[in-house]
Amino acid sequence: MKWKLRKCPKCGTYTLKDVCPICSTPTIIPHPPRFSPEDKYVKYRIENKKGIKLNC
Ligand SMILES: [Zn+2]
Repeated sequence: MKWKLRKCPKCGTYTLKDVCPICSTPTIIPHPPRFSPEDKYVKYRIENKKGIKLNC
């Protein structure tokens, strides 16, 4: 059984609903630890692409 726990990005409340029962903010699925550094890599890649273009 997978328990799809969602989190409100605004008040940090954990809920199973798509909308936070407290502040009615659409909830998100908390990303696994892997996704956090991946986001940094994406930014790094974008910076790299810009750097390459400038060098050319
Ligand atoms: Zn909330």
